[in-house]
Amino acid sequence: MNTAAPRDTIAAIATAPGAGGVGIVRLSGPRALAIARAMCGRGLQPRRAHHVRFDDGQGGTLDDGIVLAFPGPASFTGEDVAELQAHGSPVVLHALVDRACALGARRARPGEFSERAFHNGKLDLAQAEAVADLIAASDTRAARAARRSLDGVFSRRVDAVAAALLRLRVHVEAAIDFADESIETLGGGEVRAGLAAAQADLRQLLADAERGRKLRDGLHTVIVGPPNAGKSSLLNALAGSDRAIVTDVAGTTRDTLHETIRLDGLELHLVDTAGLREGGDAIEREGMRRARAELQRADLALIVVDARDVQAGAAAVADVIADVPRRLWIHNKIDLLPGPPAEPGTDAVAVSAATGLGLPALHARLRELAGQGAGEGSEGEFSARARHVDALRRAEGHVERANGELNHEMLELAAEELRLAHDALGEITGKISADEMLGYIFSTFCIGK
Ligand code: GDP
Repeated sequence: MNTAAPRDTIAAIATAPGAGGVGIVRLSGPRALAIARAMCGRGLQPRRAHHVRFDDGQGGTLDDGIVLAFPGPASFTGEDVAELQAHGSPVVLHALVDRACALGARRARPGEFSERAFHNGKLDLAQAEAVADLIAASDTRAARAARRSLDGVFSRRVDAVAAALLRLRVHVEAAIDFADESIETLGGGEVRAGLAAAQADLRQLLADAERGRKLRDGLHTVIVGPPNAGKSSLLNALAGSDRAIVTDVAGTTRDTLHETIRLDGLELHLVDTAGLREGGDAIEREGMRRARAELQRADLALIVVDARDVQAGAAAVADVIADVPRRLWIHNKIDLLPGPPAEPGTDAVAVSAATGLGLPALHARLRELAGQGAGEGSEGEFSARARHVDALRRAEGHVERANGELNHEMLELAAEELRLAHDALGEITGKISADEMLGYIFSTFCIGK
């Protein structure tokens, strides 16, 4: 995509805020190289490091450092880019940006460098998002996955399905012009086979993207259970702190509490919910309402019940956990059992939040659930966002409907569903996307990126 209108030149500090050994100011745009030359008072060879003094415009020196020139289109943004490396003092770096602005640049908005790279066809949208995800990655597995998205692993798979859908649509549309003949005589079998293959690809892609999203966002996990089962204690035990207030008066936890913990590189968002019991006062009912809302968007529910009466606990939560896709039962307080705990079954773990008994096994189960059985950092694993998963789901729905229409020989409707599926995929890579969506995505980036 190249929508390059004549643009202005932008400048920003590209390195993290605060003091550091080296700090980088980045310039991009038609005047980037001229401004950089003016700032260091010499000519610049492309992609060569020059040791220079950055002048302050008043005959003095701001700092000395390295300057690099990347004439477009062989640059990150596709425009002329200059990088000024100075000592990593915020004062010096801000002064360099001020000086660049005095020479005709303007301060970059958050994400504007990546946005320009996108507009100049250097990165597609999923790749540009991967830049942000790579920078924000909290462990090597997430970083590797983001790196693969940045390399286009995800985009290529999306593009391949989109191209297949486009071919099918062309085929179906061609058949529309021969309304007298049945689709079967016009290669209907081939279209159906193609559609089935696209559906299978899409399903696999969706599963992989969902895993990529969890890698990026963490597994949204909610702790639920009847009052006093030990939910807050479990949260504390997992988080390793006294985050939640633990008391033995039923109904103490009235609000939902958020805690994010890391377990071997996976992020779990724990929400300790108000005890799910009927009745109670207004605050308690509000807590329950929130608990239900949390459950609606949970990937996983940890259902804590007292190991001494699992059945009663299960009965108390049965209706609220009905919609959660995955559940893990926690039989808590096993230290209070008269004998050793009964084998809890494959969907349950027996623990004592108080003594720590069984917690290593719980950790292992959580890791397993979060990784969904995928090998640690498996080849081809890529990062994805909720936005991508949503678009893939919509594409899947349209392809399914296209299939139905085709079975009823409703070719126009089938072609339209294929177009919508194709458009949904295009949103992921930005090949089809509304400007306001682009604005939103890039505005969540940080400045200088
Ligand atoms: P919640 O209402 O489900 O959040 O329950 P709490 O975490 O506040 O715990 C209720 C009571 O049970 C507190 O007195 C805890 O100390 C106690 N408790 C929690 N877990 C255990 C456990 O594993 N063993 C024992 N003996 N007591 C526990």
